[in-house]
Amino acid sequence: MIIITRPEATEEQIAHIVSRIRAWGLKSEVSRGEQRVVIGVIGPEDKIREKPLGAFPGVESVTPVLKPYKLVSYQFRGRHSHVQIGGVTVGAKAVVLMAGPCSVESEEQITAIATEVRKSGAKILRGGAFKPRTSPYSFQGLGKVGLQLLAEARRLTGMPIITEIMDTKDLELVCEYADCLQVGARNMQNFSLLREVGRTHLPVMLKRGMSATIKDLLMSAEYILSEGNFNVLLCERGIRTFETMTRNTLDLNAVPVLKSETHLPVVVDPTHGIGLREYIPSMALAAVAAGADSIMIEVHNSPEHAKSDGEQALLPQEFEALVARVKSVADAVGREL
Ligand code: PEP
Ligand code: MN
Repeated sequence: MIIITRPEATEEQIAHIVSRIRAWGLKSEVSRGEQRVVIGVIGPEDKIREKPLGAFPGVESVTPVLKPYKLVSYQFRGRHSHVQIGGVTVGAKAVVLMAGPCSVESEEQITAIATEVRKSGAKILRGGAFKPRTSPYSFQGLGKVGLQLLAEARRLTGMPIITEIMDTKDLELVCEYADCLQVGARNMQNFSLLREVGRTHLPVMLKRGMSATIKDLLMSAEYILSEGNFNVLLCERGIRTFETMTRNTLDLNAVPVLKSETHLPVVVDPTHGIGLREYIPSMALAAVAAGADSIMIEVHNSPEHAKSDGEQALLPQEFEALVARVKSVADAVGREL
């Protein structure tokens, strides 16, 4: 249930509503907009429905949330959320570029790539230290050493870092280093991991599972928010279809649908979405045109030596050329870089 307060509602009235909700054994989530305060009431719907929420002073309206997702719904906030990653805001007018290698491989590799992408306009550095690989015999990532190398690259470039968390047992370690946690496609429905990242204070980028619907993605995000962490980004990274000419099918339909269904910022990863270097720039531009708040691109300075995803990594100079084109599209759709 969502309580919308009057513009002139006082802090005492709001505090009174919140304390009554708590006294009933229900949870509340207060969201402060520019004009008014919205209070989400969380708990069993039948129990909430019998409470006289509309009778409190300061309340303008009470609306049931009919969707299965509540905290992530656009209606819950009534505006789009901004998520802070380090000092970078995602979800505002500027389209945020995240770039870096698939995996952190060595100090030289990550610092060289970080320096290059930073120079071209990337705002957030990506790189996997714990890698979810289809084969157990493939490179699994450098683990803690990879995190330390990312932290060093952050120190050198000033860019905040995003890196994947695969297992709850690594959460404390990853949280020591990361500015944003990435939950990968293969873990989108790892509900115990979702709950645990929901208990951290770090922003979380949740990637869409390769056979998940948009609704599944929203329901998974709901797990994170329901634990109290509202700093969540949703990432479209391509789904499996019958198509075999590309690695995945980047579902850009998801962008406008998510922007209208949820207040959470939307990231698009055209790299995994299409999986072939030559086509990535086109899909990155299309993603910005479709309304993405952020684009994540894999970049490698020596793709033929990459330990993972070399065939889909852009060279630093290709990334640089793409950024100029992203800027033109961003301008054309009323955004900026
Ligand atoms: C990645 O970002 O390198 C990755 C493994 O992505 P996904 O979970 O989307 O496959
Ligand atoms: Mn990758």
